[in-house]
Parts: sequence; C-alpha cells; structure tokens
Amino acid sequence: MSVPFRQTLAVLSHVWKNRIAGNNRYPLVLMLEPLLKCNLACAGCGKIQHPAEILRRQLTVDQCLQAAEQCGAPVVSIPGGEPLLHTQIGQIVAGLVAMKRFVYLCTNAIKLTESLEKFAPSAYLAFSVHLDGPRQLHDQAVCREGVYDQAISAIRAARQAGFRVTTNTTVFSHTTVADLAELFDVLMDLGVEGMMISPGFAYEKAPDQTHFLGERQATNVFDQLFSHPHARRWKFNQSPLFLQFLRGRWSMDCTPWGSPTYNVFGWQRPCYLISEGYADSFGDLMASTNWANYGHASGNAKCVQCMTHCGFEPTAVAHTLTTTRGFAATLRAILFRSSLPAIVTDTRSIGQRWSPVIEDEPTRASSTAPKLVSIDDIHHHHAA
Ligand code: SF4
Ligand code: SF4
Repeated sequence: MSVPFRQTLAVLSHVWKNRIAGNNRYPLVLMLEPLLKCNLACAGCGKIQHPAEILRRQLTVDQCLQAAEQCGAPVVSIPGGEPLLHTQIGQIVAGLVAMKRFVYLCTNAIKLTESLEKFAPSAYLAFSVHLDGPRQLHDQAVCREGVYDQAISAIRAARQAGFRVTTNTTVFSHTTVADLAELFDVLMDLGVEGMMISPGFAYEKAPDQTHFLGERQATNVFDQLFSHPHARRWKFNQSPLFLQFLRGRWSMDCTPWGSPTYNVFGWQRPCYLISEGYADSFGDLMASTNWANYGHASGNAKCVQCMTHCGFEPTAVAHTLTTTRGFAATLRAILFRSSLPAIVTDTRSIGQRWSPVIEDEPTRASSTAPKLVSIDDIHHHHAA
C-alpha cells in the first residue's frame, strides 16, 4: 500500500467528522477540471469532444479554490483536458496546497519537464502521469508516437527535482496482463510512489467504443494481474479493498457523490463519468441530484459496467474506515498481502451499515445489497 500515511489520516478524520455530524453524503475527492483542452486526442477520451469555444475556456484560480472550499474533500484530483495547458496552473496548485489538500495533478506529461519550475515539491502534491502500457501500447492508446518516452523522461526529471510521482493506467480490452506487468516493473524501477489502475469507462462521446472491458473481462484481467509473480513489488495508490473489488473479491456499489466534478460548466451531475446537466453550486448538486438513479443497483444502463475508481474507491474507503469487516479485510490484504476468497460472502450488512439509508429513496436503501461478483462468472483517461 502506498497511500501516504498523512493522507490516510486526513481522510479518516474527514470521514468521521462527517459521520459524527450525521452527514451521510460527503465527497472524498474533488475532481477539478480547470480546462477541457488537451494536447493529445486519444481515441478513448470523452473529454475533448467539445467545440473549440468550450475548449478555450478555463476556470479562474478563485473558481478552483472556491470549489475546493465548498466541497471540502481532503483530496483534489486535477484531470482535464491537460491541466498543464492552463495558464495559471501553478497558482491553482499552490492555493490548494496552502489549503492542505492532497493534490494529484493528472497529466500526459508531454509538458511536465518544462513545467516543473511552476511548482514546489510538497507532501501535498503529486504528479499523476497517464501511462496505459509499455511504449507501443501507450503510444497507440494516445494515438501519437513518442509520448511514452516523453512521459518516462518527465517522471525521471520530476523525481530528480524532488516531486512525488504517481501514475494512472486505464485498462482496455486489448491490454494484456503481460503489458501491465512490463509497465509496472518499469514504473517501480523509476521510483514511482504508487500506481492507480482502473478499467476504461465507455464514455458516450468517446470516438472508440470497441475497446472497453465488460465487468467479467475486467475482474478476470485484474485477478490474473494481482496474481502475477511480480505483483508483490508493485505499489498501488489505491485502497486494498478497491483492488479486491477489481478482481471480483469484494462486493460493493458505487458512491456517486464520492468524487464530484467541477469544470467550466459548473458542478457536473451526477459524477465524473457521465454528464446529465450541471449545478451552480456544490450545495445544489448534493441537494437536487436524484442519487437513487445511479450505481449498479439502480439498473441505470450507463452504470451497469462501471468499475472505475471515481465511483467505487469512495465506497471502498468507507467500508475500510467504518466497518469492522472492511477494516479486517484491508488489514489482511496489507499485512499478509493475501487476496480475499474468490467469492465474497454476502456483504449486505456492510452496505447497510455504511450506506446511508435515505428515507425518501426506498429503492436505493434496499438496493444497498451489493451485487455479488463471482470470479467464476467471470476495466481515460487520466483519472477515470
Ligand atoms: S457507477 Fe460509474 S457512471 Fe454510474 S454514477 Fe457511479 S461512477 Fe458514475
Ligand atoms: S485521454 Fe487525457 S491525454 Fe488523452 S486526449 Fe483525453 S484528456 Fe488528453
């Protein structure tokens, strides 16, 4: 496990403050998109398909800091677009770090080396470099040759300059376990602090709709990956229970309000991955979104195949920090590095104990019975 200890403490304190205050819906991660423009045009991207006028817009420094203030999440992930194209990205990050938010600046790293002077190394700042596989696969995924080599050289430069570096990898249907293993070995050798991995989400706007993994394929690939002989040396910047979920060994539903998204349109409803309108304020987003319509149990077709960390990592964290069973399973995964049994037992009690029982939403309350995933039955962008 390589989530920094002080970040874990900040998240723990945030979770319990909210619970003690009786607040059942609280975000853990703000997805802050300061602009949607990018210097790449990946086929699986659902973010850059907007008209040029929209792609030219960028949030102001004040808008970004106010969003972080309103939302209160201890972690701020800055995807895009390519955040390094924002003319005031240095001020945005400095402001968030001054607020003691744990900032993950997600980047394709093309401009990272030349941009390092805009930032100061901090325990609160990590660059999260987007890498979808070894050289050939990554360059193919981002539809441009040479990007893998630029990213690797930027990781070296950032590490040498004393910055924390993490990575994020989206797994598509053509990605093999051998590809991922090769990439992860290289990243560990480079001194990357932790890696994030998530199945690709089939964005409606993405031009390439054919390479997204279904849930069954995903759990199969992840289970093989985490059983790889080199898996013990790989460090992931994700909660152990989320990794168990990816391999079909922990059952849970999405927390759709866990990672709210703020961008040039406002607060995106309901989540980072799907857009069904925007709210003017964080308070309005939380109060006026019909959360019962989202997550696996809702039956919403857009959610059915989703296993991405922006929706499920907040649930995994809540299971770990607020349920005995989730805590025990996490300890077991950390201390013994062992996986949970292939078929998890019924975790309904965990869902019900943790999940807010929402009086006005009976469907969701009963739907907290998590979907059981059997291994026998047998998942960007930067931060999907
Ligand atoms: S399941 Fe996925 S797409 Fe649906 S609300 Fe959750 S994070 Fe969003
Ligand atoms: S996936 Fe990321 S790097 Fe690729 S075009 Fe979209 S925003 Fe840019």
